Amino acid sequence: MTAVHAPGTPRIEADELVSTSPATGIEAGRLPVATEAAVRQAVDQARAASEWWAGLGFTGRRQRLLSWRALLAQRIEQLAELMHVEGGKPVPDAIVEVVTAIEHIDWAARNAARVLGPRRVRSRLILAEFSGHLEYQPFGVVGVIGPWNYPVFTPIGSAAYALAAGNAVVLKPSEYTPVVGQWLVDTFAEVVPEQQVFTAVHGLGDVGAALCRSGVDKVAFTGSTATARKVMAACAETLTPVLIEGGGKDAMIVDSDANLDAAAEACVWGAMTNAGQTCIGIERVYAVDPVFDAFVDKVVARAGRLTVGPEGTDIGPITMPGQIDVIRRHIEAAVSSGGRAVLGGPDAVQPPYVHPTVLVDVPEESAAVREETFGPTLTISRVRDADEAVARANALSYGLGGSVFGRQRALAIARRLRSGMASINSTLTFAGMSTLPFGGVGDSGFGRIHGEDGLREFGRAKAITRRRARSLLPSMTFERTPTDVARLVKAIKVMYGR
Ligand code: NDP
Repeated sequence: MTAVHAPGTPRIEADELVSTSPATGIEAGRLPVATEAAVRQAVDQARAASEWWAGLGFTGRRQRLLSWRALLAQRIEQLAELMHVEGGKPVPDAIVEVVTAIEHIDWAARNAARVLGPRRVRSRLILAEFSGHLEYQPFGVVGVIGPWNYPVFTPIGSAAYALAAGNAVVLKPSEYTPVVGQWLVDTFAEVVPEQQVFTAVHGLGDVGAALCRSGVDKVAFTGSTATARKVMAACAETLTPVLIEGGGKDAMIVDSDANLDAAAEACVWGAMTNAGQTCIGIERVYAVDPVFDAFVDKVVARAGRLTVGPEGTDIGPITMPGQIDVIRRHIEAAVSSGGRAVLGGPDAVQPPYVHPTVLVDVPEESAAVREETFGPTLTISRVRDADEAVARANALSYGLGGSVFGRQRALAIARRLRSGMASINSTLTFAGMSTLPFGGVGDSGFGRIHGEDGLREFGRAKAITRRRARSLLPSMTFERTPTDVARLVKAIKVMYGR
């Protein structure tokens, strides 16, 4: 018989992490909790595997990663169903997430050799007698710590690129989605059975902390900014490099020449897909005065049609029971400080669900505008013009993504957003484009996954010079003469002194 528990709250029972559906409480699976010693052991094993994996070279790894990609594509429905059961995510949202992850695996596998492989770099007149050589060598073992909201896309965004670069990976999935994390490493082991190149350790936050201190060569963290600070502090003890993909409070700007129907459609999806539990989700909109009223009407009409519930709906449950209090607090604070709910409102919070909520006239100091809400909620504010919209969008310490709807000024506005990414006339699309880097600024983190930057994030630049001729102007030797130095001074004045 299927066990049923309190919905969504993971528990530890007899040293096992019990993961449950946030909608029904049905048990999604249970996994052994790793002790600190077990985490170290997993990293030691991964280190041995990393040598074998690196030794396969780009071609061997590409072939295996493409086999894994194919397996994921064949089992996409199975994985999406598991994501639905464990995290509550509607199946179509889960499928879109897996599709994006598959695309990233494919691109990383196919492009790692080109981006990271050995190449000659041009030398200059100074040291022209040497050739330059560059390659990106794997770190060894990368610890990947992931959140629950995109339990496939986020770990793969780091892991696929780290693996393609020649590293072994130890994954610590969120305690809310360990079964999906284990599914990923199990399928990888099906296509790479020889060594434990990609493994997982399970448990609560302390297991993530243990991974940071386990001797991994790099940590790729995706999660909240508060936890990111703890991860950095732990990694600072051993100078372990970190990549931080933190939280966000992404803004959308609607300019006067925007297509309002397209803007409303993209806004509702960008804000409410995955029940709004999206790091790059649209949480606030700044619409210029001439289009504000029409835009709000169109958003309300579309968001009002969304269905909410456990099965076959647009919006599923809030995955983390504790987040419901945050969403409620933000809506209540917005309304009590002068904001108006033109859709939903405080009554929209019906645990474990939150119905679509659109708030207008909310003061900029309100938590609903400043803090990550992570629910199917949205604030829409009226602004004079695009300049005011940019100023308000950039006023927070977060800076992950963003969106601009408009024509003439759209690209200029997108450039001015203080964020790592932006989409023009769409929302969230940069996440699915494997050729583009993904990451934030400020409290949203640093470092990049995806694209060429994402591959380089997981390789150490190795620079080599090689003598190819005698030095005409010997300088880096004690054998140089005063005449050599004088000629050097003369040469540098001719070359750079004008
Ligand atoms: P958390 O920060 O709570 O957790 C993230 C991961 O860190 C989890 O695996 C967690 O384990 C682990 N962890 C907790 N404490 C520690 C610790 N002291 N040391 C090391 N690891 C630890 O985030 P959520 O899981 O709640 O995810 C939501 C957040 O993630 C949001 O802020 C969202 O914006 C952000 N996010 C960012 C993305 C990006 O690309 N920038 C993408 C997706 C989400 P456990 O779950 O067991 O506590």
